[in-house]
Amino acid sequence: MKKRNGKEPKRGRGSRAAARAKGRAKPAAPAGPAKGATPKRVEAILAKLDEAYPAATCALRHDNPFQLLVSTILSAQCTDARVNQVTATLFPKYPTPQAFAYANPKELEKEIRPTGFFRNKTKSVIGASKKIVEEFGGRVPQTMEEMLTLPGVARKTANVVLGTAFGVASGVVVDTHVQRLANRLDLTRQQDPKKIEQDLMQAIPQDRWILFSHQLIWHGRKVCQARKPRCAECNLESLCYSQDKVV
Ligand code: SF4
Repeated sequence: MKKRNGKEPKRGRGSRAAARAKGRAKPAAPAGPAKGATPKRVEAILAKLDEAYPAATCALRHDNPFQLLVSTILSAQCTDARVNQVTATLFPKYPTPQAFAYANPKELEKEIRPTGFFRNKTKSVIGASKKIVEEFGGRVPQTMEEMLTLPGVARKTANVVLGTAFGVASGVVVDTHVQRLANRLDLTRQQDPKKIEQDLMQAIPQDRWILFSHQLIWHGRKVCQARKPRCAECNLESLCYSQDKVV
């Protein structure tokens, strides 16, 4: 930094504000694995989730893997209920990957507008559909590697489709609920979804990845809600020592 009259330059207001903000910033996650992710505790958490949500599954309505892919793309930053409302008329109008691939983008934008981010979602739906038609013979691919080549598809969407539609345990779905609950339950100390997924894939047995994701999403919606977790009704309460706990 250039010196003024041989002195260090004064810090501007922006610098002071940045310093104050730095002082208030959340401390970085401590290094190392979460202490709560011991095999015994994980087993107890899984047993409690089984009790509460024995048949948890994806709430997005779909009749085939392709419809699930489209619904999952539309569900970004949107509720599953809203997506289901939109797809109730969308899927009869566009019954195949070909129909979506060669849809009129402006028309599709209008149709999916209620789900938000409709311009990007239109590009993703049309782009993924074209690739499926032109490179995968009209079928949704069944490996993570291939799924990640589809426009608009990242690990979360790929995990939803591979797990729910094909029963392929490719990873753990990390949405906003899983992100919050994995931290509250001390199964991770990370905030980045990719790192959270890595921690969960280490802590949770692979044959539980698919069901575990759905169970955590249901628990996040019904009980362990972001602002006001309903801890008095939570069957995981005896295992939970989160600072967000309200009992
Ligand atoms: S006790 Fe409260 S914070 Fe802990 S998992 Fe249950 S609802 Fe969430």
